[in-house]
Amino acid sequence: MVQNNLEIVEQKIQAACQRAGRDRSEVTLIAVSKTKPVSMIREAMDCGLHVFGENKVQELCDKYEELPKDLQWHMIGHLQRNKVKYLIGKTALIHSVDSLRLAQAVQEEAAKKGAVMDILLEVNAAEEESKFGLAVEEVLPLVRQIAPFPNLRVKGLMTVAPFVQDPEENRKYFRTLKQLAVDINDKNIDNVHVNILSMGMTNDYEVAIEEGATMVRIGTGIFGERDYQV
Ligand SMILES: *Cc1c(COP(=O)(O)O)cnc(C)c1O
Repeated sequence: MVQNNLEIVEQKIQAACQRAGRDRSEVTLIAVSKTKPVSMIREAMDCGLHVFGENKVQELCDKYEELPKDLQWHMIGHLQRNKVKYLIGKTALIHSVDSLRLAQAVQEEAAKKGAVMDILLEVNAAEEESKFGLAVEEVLPLVRQIAPFPNLRVKGLMTVAPFVQDPEENRKYFRTLKQLAVDINDKNIDNVHVNILSMGMTNDYEVAIEEGATMVRIGTGIFGERDYQV
């Protein structure tokens, strides 16, 4: 099943790149494996995937331990400060930094391990009440505050768009994120180059790619529906 699904996803990614005049190599596919067993991750690995996304620290660490060390693990879910320490050295990128206090915790824990941690800032582009993430106007001030942190690097922005029937409805939020990245880069802040736009999920990744996504986070489209009962 994973192989078939991946072929379909890959075709759609390529088609979206083509429509947007973009090279396929500009878009990284992150296979979101949350709640799914390592056997399915191995299936995806057999198809050539090596970048996986998880939204829980414990699950990410368990899978990290169990699977080969040449995989890349991305932390895409809401993160508590007291759990940051478990991620340093295991995760390639934290997508979900949404406060100064969390950024400070990442800085502290990375410093303890002599590491530099790459992060994205999560933006609640649609201003949904139920969602984590910074308001659009909070992003630039936070970038300026954390730019001098020596053990943390702001690499880009991430957003989780609303769940909608018609993905076209989310196009405006992807544009907002892209424009915000352009605005930040225009400020030429030392140590800050926001080149990564993590946006687009199973429901809306084609539109996100058309609007400049450099990372798409796809779970259901690859591994099938998640069962939260188990
Ligand atoms: C679960 C999740 C995804 C993947 O969602 P699908 O709709 O299954 O593709 C992407 N991003 C985040 C932050 C998630 O929590």
